[in-house]
Amino acid sequence: MISTTDVLNFRFDPSDPMQPRSVNFYFDHYRGEPIHRAVVYLANPGCEWSRKTGGCTMCGTKNSALRKTVTDDQYFAQLEIVRRHVENFNATHGDQVRTLHVYNDGFFFNDAEIGQKVREAIYALARSFKMQKLVVETNGLDIVRDDKSNDYLGKGVALLGETEFEVTLGVESANPLVRTLYNKPDSVDDFRNSLEIIRRKGGISKGYVLVKGPLLTEAEAYEDCVNTIRILHEWSKGERFRVEFQPVCLLPITLHEYLMGLNETDPYLWDPPLLSTLFRILSQFPEMGEDLYSALFARIDVDSPWDFWLTRPHDDPQTTFKLYLKLVDYYLYRKRDSIEAALTMAREDLWLERKKKAIPHPLEQRVAVVKRLMALSRKSDLCLSDYLKTRLKPAGNFIESCLSHFDRLPGMPVR
Ligand code: SF4
Repeated sequence: MISTTDVLNFRFDPSDPMQPRSVNFYFDHYRGEPIHRAVVYLANPGCEWSRKTGGCTMCGTKNSALRKTVTDDQYFAQLEIVRRHVENFNATHGDQVRTLHVYNDGFFFNDAEIGQKVREAIYALARSFKMQKLVVETNGLDIVRDDKSNDYLGKGVALLGETEFEVTLGVESANPLVRTLYNKPDSVDDFRNSLEIIRRKGGISKGYVLVKGPLLTEAEAYEDCVNTIRILHEWSKGERFRVEFQPVCLLPITLHEYLMGLNETDPYLWDPPLLSTLFRILSQFPEMGEDLYSALFARIDVDSPWDFWLTRPHDDPQTTFKLYLKLVDYYLYRKRDSIEAALTMAREDLWLERKKKAIPHPLEQRVAVVKRLMALSRKSDLCLSDYLKTRLKPAGNFIESCLSHFDRLPGMPVR
């Protein structure tokens, strides 16, 4: 029997390359039934894109990257710890761990981040426990590059044999402007081709779709997610694809962390999406069944203080926890009634109020400002949020403050 109480989190010294950052045991859903899954965050050198450019504006992986090479032997030591924890879990729980998720916070097929021998050890680990599925994360650029060179992906599918290989791409949005706002490394063509490459090589394509990144209103975020899923559906031409929402939560050293600290009256003040917005998006795609779901982003803990929810998707204090339990229920069983029940209990007036919130500058101008800010922060060797914290004088409207800042710098303003 799978229970939501079977959650175990083991955290290790985040500065030690000989230990994974964490090994976690959660419930999951796989082909029609609840199961146990193991989720491993490896200690890693940091994402190539993040090191070269400052990374994606909403990504918090720079907080945990070691920023130094992690050798094969160090990775092997991490995997040995994972092995022991999975063995212990299996020995003490009736239902065994059925899927393994291994995340290296970057490009999974990039030798500069994780070597092929380590990838092979991960496949062997999944096989040794007869996992039904191995899940990894990367992006379109990595898949397209690998397809033209080493074909590590194809080799991985072959080595995994009976174990499915699910490759998750940080799609976030199919709108090129929104993707630029997030400073994604891959183009729309890259990830479109990647979805096809993964399928052709025998893997399962999954996309993360971001719900409300920085500088988007709730209405824009909702529309962007719905359009993105429709586009993924169109491109898939009847083939299977999976989508996991990544509702944005407060993370240190991100653009939205900076925007969350703006003045209350600033139209660019960022707040997390409504929890009920996730159900509104889920309700649009009944045909996707278990292949569309939202990541869970909070503890299942009735005593969580309200401050805890303020940094995560939430509605009002009366309904938030009840809505979250419906999201957990949907995650576990993927039944439509969880979505319908959640929408019945969600307050319509909160959604209508959020939908009214507008942002004065067109998306193109917000994108131009973010591009210029990224270039300036890189030049100053600062991450974007630190650049903003130290160089920008906030003046009631974030984009106007940036434009005034640019006016004071040498070069052409972005007006
Ligand atoms: S979202 Fe992915 S590609 Fe972007 S900085 Fe984070 S780890 Fe790197």
